[in-house]
Formats: sequence, C-alpha cells, structure tokens
Amino acid sequence: MYTSHGASHIINTLKTAGYDAYIVGGAVRDQIIGRAIHDVDVITNASIDEIEASFSRVIKVGIQHGTILVPVAGTLPVEVSTYKGDTLEDDLRQRDFTVNAMAMSLTGDMIDPFNGQQDIKNKVLRTTADPSDVFSSDPLRLLRALRFAVHLQFKISEHTQRMMNDLYPLIHQSAVERVAMEMEKLSQVSLTNQDWDFLLNQKVFQELPYLFKHREIQYQLKSPAHMAKLTDDLAWWSVALYQKEIEIVKDGLRYYKLSNALSKDVRFIHELVGIFLESSWTSKDLYILGTERLHVSLILINYLSECTVHSTFWLMHYNNLPIKHRKDLDVSGKELIQEFPEWKGSEIGERIRAVETAVLEAVIPNDKAEIYQWLRKET
Ligand code: ATP
Ligand code: MG
Repeated sequence: MYTSHGASHIINTLKTAGYDAYIVGGAVRDQIIGRAIHDVDVITNASIDEIEASFSRVIKVGIQHGTILVPVAGTLPVEVSTYKGDTLEDDLRQRDFTVNAMAMSLTGDMIDPFNGQQDIKNKVLRTTADPSDVFSSDPLRLLRALRFAVHLQFKISEHTQRMMNDLYPLIHQSAVERVAMEMEKLSQVSLTNQDWDFLLNQKVFQELPYLFKHREIQYQLKSPAHMAKLTDDLAWWSVALYQKEIEIVKDGLRYYKLSNALSKDVRFIHELVGIFLESSWTSKDLYILGTERLHVSLILINYLSECTVHSTFWLMHYNNLPIKHRKDLDVSGKELIQEFPEWKGSEIGERIRAVETAVLEAVIPNDKAEIYQWLRKET
C-alpha cells in the first residue's frame, strides 16, 4: 500500500532487525481520508542509535527530538522517530488530535486508541485527551486545530472548541517563529470565504498581533465576491500585515521575524499599492514591481478598492512594456563605455537609468541607434 513512498522499505528493514515499526500521524489520516500524502512519518521502538545502525545512510536532523531522516531512492526521505515514551500507545497519547494519533502497520492493521477513524467518518477534530491539558502543554496546537479544521473541512468538537475559547491567550507563550510557520502552512491551501469567516471569528486568530487587522480586508475575505488565493507566502503576509500605517507594518514584519527578502517585498508592495490608490501606476511603477509583486499588489488592491480593479488590464499593460529587465535594453553598460569613452565610470549607471526610464515612458524606442542619438542630444 505504501510502496510508492519508501516507508515500506524502511519498516521492513526495521522489522528484519527485530524492531516494531509503524506509519503514523498525517500520512495515516490522509490515507484514510483519501487526501494526497506529502510526507510520511514512521515510529519505532528502536532507539536513535539503533535506527542509525539499521540503514546505510541517514540524515541527522531532529535528533534532539528523537527523529532522523532516512533517504529512500526515488522518493522523499521518510522521518523515522523513536517512540516518545515506552510504548506505541504512550507515543500516540502525546499527539494532539485523535485523527493525528493513529498508527498503521505495513499490513494495514490500525492502532487507534482514541477512535480517530470514527472522528474521520464524522469529520470531527477532537483532542486526544482533556483539551485544557493538550493546549496548555503546547499552545501552538490552538492554531494547528484551526489549520486542520479548514484544510480537512472538519468541525472542531464542541468541548474542544469551548476550551479553545477559554485558553486562546496561551498562544502568546508559543515562539513567534512557530506561529509564523503555522501561518505559512495555513496559507498552502486556498481558503474559501466560509473558511475565512470561521478563522476570523476564532479568538486565537484574533489574538495574533498585527495579522488581518484591516477592517475592509476582513470584510472582503469573508465576502464571496473575492476569491483571491493567498497560497504563497508573499501574498499571505502582504495581505495579512496590511495597515495604513507603514510603521505598524514594519513592527509586524519584525515581530514575526520574517526574512529580510520577504519583508522588503511586503514593504515595497504596500508602498506601490499606496501609490496606486492615490494616483494609479506609471509604466515605470509596473516595471520596478515585476511580475510576482505585481500579482500580489493586484490581489491586495482588489481587497482595498471600492471598484473592482481589472487585473487583466494591468497584467496586459505589464506584458506590453518595452522592457521587463535592464538586460532587455538594446545597449549594455559595456557598449556605452565604448561608445562614449569621454564619460566617467560613475556616470554610466546614471545614464543607463535615464535610458531605462526614457524607453519605459516611450520617449525613445528600445533601439541601439536611437538610444545613442538620444544620449548625444541629452548630454
Ligand atoms: P500535514 O499534512 O500538514 O503535514 P501532519 O498531521 O503530518 O499534517 P505535522 O505537523 O507534519 O502534521 O505532524 C506530524 C504528526 O506529528 C501529527 O499528525 C501529529 O500526530 C504529531 N504532531 C506534530 N506536531 C504536534 C504538536 N505540536 N503536538 C502534538 N502532536 C504533534
Ligand atoms: Mg506531516
């Protein structure tokens, strides 16, 4: 059943060496639901050293958490972990939700002490133990609950939801890096307006500083007229952190410790969206945005502006730009140095920028001879 992703090879190897081994967690859940499986976790009673000794090659990441990666030819590596606790049941008990706390043997036998299969049938998300214990011992599970609820389209059980409504402030105890990562996982599936309605009404979601605080965006996310997909990190963070006050945006970017590259792009998009809303875009604006940031800006504008902005118009305008990158210019810096030996090195960059602007504003065509002629006249 699992031959395609290498887990069977790993389980067979461990069993031959005399250990127990099972597929566990999300892969078991998704297999039962019939959802695509993207990674497989295996647990075993072998210790980390014993796991390592059983395979010719292992990748030592996560050893401090009792986990090791085992590469299998032709498939994704499989995460192999030693039981947390003494037995398989001990390990399963430490997992968050019943549907995530099932193990399966290679022959398809299920070890399901919390009736996860029943909850899958009823599409219910429920904690393995008393929700106040489960959420207190790792408050990130409050956000994991939301992620699984919307991704699996499950309802959170009444008791679990009631405790989440009480315990939501605990989320402040989670490391912001883990919260940010959880947000990025949440964004990997496109969410419906009902999903947004659910998320934005959840206290723990409202408790996250800086995220989705803009009133109009909140309203639009819930309204069926707007189905923009925030399925990449840049789109997600650009919309999530949008505020009128750029200083608050900067605080948010710092708070979630986002990478410099991502932060720079988010700030740039906000700036260009501001320009659009105030006075529309020039060709130069489209050019410096570039295709990816342009797409995200249009998503954001669609959430913010009164009238519907015709994205196709702006994408067509972008596609018709005479150049998309500096390298598309019909002259290079090297050629300019040859053509105008009297120019100082420091002037070249400035001249190229002037040519770039002139070509974008259709003052001159992107043609070597015309560019030289224009430069002679201009200087
Ligand atoms: P996905 O399909 O999104 O990867 P997943 O269920 O595999 O979902 P992971 O975060 O990859 O989720 O975790 C794998 C398994 O490890 C989970 O199914 C769950 O059993 C357990 N687990 C992971 N994180 C936690 C946690 N914070 N608390 C309890 N159990 C956890
Ligand atoms: Mg997983």
